[in-house]
Amino acid sequence: MPRKIAAGNWKMNGTAASLAMLRDLAANLPDAGPDVLICPPAPLLFRAVDAAAGTSILIGAQDCHAAASGAYTGDISAAQIADTGATYVILGHSERREGHNERNRDVRAKIEAAWAAGLAAILCLGESLEDREADNTLDIIAGQLAGSLPNGATPENTVIAYEPIWAIGTGKVPTLAQIVDVHDFLRAELTDRLGATTADDISLLYGGSVKPDNAALIFEARNVDGALVGGASLKVADFAPIIHALA
Ligand code: PGA
Repeated sequence: MPRKIAAGNWKMNGTAASLAMLRDLAANLPDAGPDVLICPPAPLLFRAVDAAAGTSILIGAQDCHAAASGAYTGDISAAQIADTGATYVILGHSERREGHNERNRDVRAKIEAAWAAGLAAILCLGESLEDREADNTLDIIAGQLAGSLPNGATPENTVIAYEPIWAIGTGKVPTLAQIVDVHDFLRAELTDRLGATTADDISLLYGGSVKPDNAALIFEARNVDGALVGGASLKVADFAPIIHALA
């Protein structure tokens, strides 16, 4: 069985004061619920790990560089993320692919770096509205998966998040059938590549406008093992009900 995961991606939001929500969130978690992960901006990672200490909340980063160290002004390495005590890193988010020209091979190199540093990678995949309307979704997903996921994925080191670009931050959500189509496809592609024993245990998250009022329905979809949540992960009042819907 794949682990159920509710992951919050704070993107470029929040300051040190925002971390007070971690204690509040921890106090509002279901018993025996899903793994809960918060990915704050990089400057908050050390403090976030401290703030989450003694709770079950895990901390992750939103990106890393592919190199172990060197002259890369402004970048952070996977080892530096691991040094904070964070255990996950989101890679290949569409905001990185689009805003920072990350190609599949860049994402692949970053995942290799994350694994080498002992981090689990959350690989993000998703089609644009144009791709969706041209009926190219599964081709795009297949290409991104083949190009971005290095060999050696395991349920421990890899989580995959399907995030249609047109659903991120827009309030638009695919139909359940559209989500199931992609998640079934992902499971089948992973099975081809890794064998059923490994593929069946890799957590597949849906992301894009997950909110308290649509989470329960989304979590009914076959092969949806959790969510990658942006805007609704910033407040306990929004994120806690999503986590409860997954429990
Ligand atoms: P959203 O973002 O929940 O605000 O749509 C999801 C994401 O980009 O991970």
